[in-house]
Amino acid sequence: MAGRFINMRNLKFTLHELMESHKTSTCDPFGGRNKKSIDLVLDAALEFSKKALHPIFETMDRNPPELKNGTVAVNPEVRNIMQTLGKDGWIAAPFPEKWGGEEMPATLFHAVYFIFAAANYSGSVYSGLTTGAAKLILTYGSEHLKNTFLPPMLDGKWQGTMALTEPEAGSSLGDLITSAKPLKQYQNESNQDDQLFLISGEKIFISAGDHDGVDNIVHLLLARIEGSPSGVKGISLFVVPKFRVEKDDSGKDKLVMNDVTVTQTFHKLGYRGAPITALSFGDKGDCRGWLVGEPNKGLSYMFQMMNGARLEVGMGATSIAAAAYEAALDYTKQRKQGRRISDGKKNSGSKGDLDKSGKPVQQNEPIPIIEHLDVKRMLLFQRAVWEGSLSLILQCSIYEDIAKNIPHDQIEEKKRYHLLLELLTPIAKTFPSEMGILATSQSIQCFGGYGYCEDFPVEQHFRDMRIHAIHEGTTGIQAMDLLGRKVVMQDGKALKLFCSEVQKTIEKTLSCKNSDLVLMADELSQSLKILVETTQSLGTMAFSKGAEAYLGNAALYLEMFGYVVIAWQWLSQALIANNKLTDVEKGIIPNKSDRLFYEGKILVSKYYFCHELPKIKYLQYTLTNSVPISMSVTTEHFTIL
Ligand SMILES: Cc1cc2nc3c(=O)[nH]c(=O)nc-3n(C[C@H](O)[C@H](O)[C@H](O)COP(=O)(O)OP(=O)(O)OC[C@H]3O[C@@H](n4cnc5c(N)ncnc54)[C@H](O)[C@@H]3O)c2cc1C
Repeated sequence: MAGRFINMRNLKFTLHELMESHKTSTCDPFGGRNKKSIDLVLDAALEFSKKALHPIFETMDRNPPELKNGTVAVNPEVRNIMQTLGKDGWIAAPFPEKWGGEEMPATLFHAVYFIFAAANYSGSVYSGLTTGAAKLILTYGSEHLKNTFLPPMLDGKWQGTMALTEPEAGSSLGDLITSAKPLKQYQNESNQDDQLFLISGEKIFISAGDHDGVDNIVHLLLARIEGSPSGVKGISLFVVPKFRVEKDDSGKDKLVMNDVTVTQTFHKLGYRGAPITALSFGDKGDCRGWLVGEPNKGLSYMFQMMNGARLEVGMGATSIAAAAYEAALDYTKQRKQGRRISDGKKNSGSKGDLDKSGKPVQQNEPIPIIEHLDVKRMLLFQRAVWEGSLSLILQCSIYEDIAKNIPHDQIEEKKRYHLLLELLTPIAKTFPSEMGILATSQSIQCFGGYGYCEDFPVEQHFRDMRIHAIHEGTTGIQAMDLLGRKVVMQDGKALKLFCSEVQKTIEKTLSCKNSDLVLMADELSQSLKILVETTQSLGTMAFSKGAEAYLGNAALYLEMFGYVVIAWQWLSQALIANNKLTDVEKGIIPNKSDRLFYEGKILVSKYYFCHELPKIKYLQYTLTNSVPISMSVTTEHFTIL
């Protein structure tokens, strides 16, 4: 598995050249870091990925975790990976210095995650989950919880998880039934500030929910305190460890079983190097959970974290698509098959054939398949998807960093970036996840039959990709979040802000001298109009036909929105590339590799505007022509044949 899994030139272009141009605020999203220090971080992440993650990409898939004697056995390297990521500060990177972190901005942290996940998606999730769970404790937990749980988690010795899903409560978390009963008699044992509960219930599909690569598992678990309201308003957040810390006779800390049992590890399509588990809490009536923050606010705490988690899911999908593209590119340069169409007659006949005058026919040699136009088209599609997705996720990360760091007296600015992030998050999660399935499928296609076999990595990338449209909220749920909540919040303010951001890019492009780019800017302007008109038509439909009609095709609306957002990102990339190429006039001559890189960016942009963006026209037709056809179809129509 020696092949290249990532194009660092592209990542650095996106971070330094493209995102630099997106800095629309006086606030520096990189917290004062310069290009050199950012590159040092990226290069160190690449080094680690090459050494520790990539070499076991395939082994982890072929030898999935197994439940043995009540514990899930994972690849032995997981322990080394977690400990190194802990020791070298990667798990704690976004945390304040006090906790061993460096307040790494989300933009840089996501770029690092892109490298790790491209090297080995399964191998990258253990630490990512731990950072996410630890952030929840940092933000909402008591001092006692922080002091007890953060150090071993951030050191990579304890695994963090997000334990939300239950057998009967997946998309609809408001139906969860795991219960929490106050345990007042233990209050003095730990800390007066903490509220201790007895937890009872089952969770399902919990990533890294149990394994032997760490010494303890810390679940950030949602449960309902007895007597709390039903639905989403009665859900609280708890820290529930597999082993709890107690004092032994000499007053030293010891780890004691906390009545958490793993009942199953699932055999799954992809993402096989990490376990997903079914867990039972409190079978013996002795599972203790510590309340995080206030009662009944659990889901809102979790949702604040979910924005970040959803960007990470989008980034995971982007990484896999990027790695699959690298494999396809490498293969198509080497594989020789067929001849160029334009070589006409020289391609016909077989070796040894003579022409009319009796001379041997000069037959062409087979060419590398990358020379075939259809193969180029497939490679262009893959680039359009993953490079466009990368750019969008880093754009969202910039918004996150600005919203976090902008001074509190600039409240309107803060809200502006926050709203943009809120609006774009379902798209940044879904576009890479859904389009990534198609992109990795095209990577397989580039290999022909070989791509379908285990000898090459693309079949694994295709399988690893599939989860992203499901976890952290399915595409259907993201779609309803976008159309039902984000687009209408504050009287459509977020949508207006988005339109003004896109408009700025269009205007900048219209003033450049490249007529191809000007055409693309016009096209984007038309597309934005189509998006706004479609949104208005759906609004009218909501008034006349009700909420079901409005939301019935929400997934198609999300798809349409995604095409427009990525077009915006591609126009921005083309504009930067064009500026770099035309810097020649200012006496800055790009070398050959830079010239090809920037020309390539403009060509992929053109591909996107010609092949992908026009799809919004048929989506507009479907969305506005009538109420969703699915409204007329009853369950019986499917079942009575
Ligand atoms: C590999 C993997 C890892 C996971 N990791 C975790 C984890 O770490 N922690 C955790 O808590 N969970 C985890 N999950 C669970 C995951 O988040 C859920 O599977 C997901 O939220 C969907 O829930 P469900 O499986 O119950 O499907 P369902 O909710 O039953 O959905 C089935 C289908 O119905 C659709 N649907 C459901 N409700 C509606 C609605 N109201 N309107 C329209 N369509 C609807 C969905 O979009 C979907 O297409 C993981 C799952 C997998 C497979």
